[in-house]
Amino acid sequence: MKELADGVFMLDGFPPNAINIYLVGETLIDAGTRQAERRIVRQVGGRELRTHALTHAHPDHQGASHAICERFGVPLWCGQADVPAVEHAGGVKNPKAPSWLNKAQERFWTGPPHPVSRALTEGETVEGFTVLETPGHSAGHIAFWRESDRVLILGDVLNNMNVMTGRPGLNMPPDMFTPDPARNRASARRLAALRPALACFGHGAPLRDPDRLADFVGSLPA
Ligand SMILES: [Zn+2]
Repeated sequence: MKELADGVFMLDGFPPNAINIYLVGETLIDAGTRQAERRIVRQVGGRELRTHALTHAHPDHQGASHAICERFGVPLWCGQADVPAVEHAGGVKNPKAPSWLNKAQERFWTGPPHPVSRALTEGETVEGFTVLETPGHSAGHIAFWRESDRVLILGDVLNNMNVMTGRPGLNMPPDMFTPDPARNRASARRLAALRPALACFGHGAPLRDPDRLADFVGSLPA
């Protein structure tokens, strides 16, 4: 695990930065795919966990959520509009993705459904971070923002790698996995305008360059 900012750790993974999981204080943010349980347990180890929160309910973020909540005896929190997906389907489906891809994700990645103890909405506080509603990539997508040192955990509103090829660099998440790309671009503009000193992505390396983020977002269509 690597400490990126005060109390903000990024778990190691392989390949590095491909599917990111963060430990913020005593809260685990996102849980990778179903295969990530051992990776999380190994790294979180004997530390206390108080909560597990999701940026959104896609299978590469909620895959190990049920297992982690059971093992650590912690509640699961997520953005309000993603609650039904977490509780019933075990993850948001992607109607725009080819069915073979959805099937493969379900078979290898998607975790079981799990009850949500708290539906997070705009302005609530988690571990000193403010919840921001950032819909588009999923209806209930949220980001976590700590203004004191300008740290942002932004899930998949933007990726800092091409998730199809693994090539590093800023990208919007593929439309195939994003039910409302225009709304997601609006969320991306909102986040870039915060000028985060450190941006932590669901996919890709952390970015400490608010200008680059602003330039990239400025180049997007309305
Ligand atoms: Zn993702």
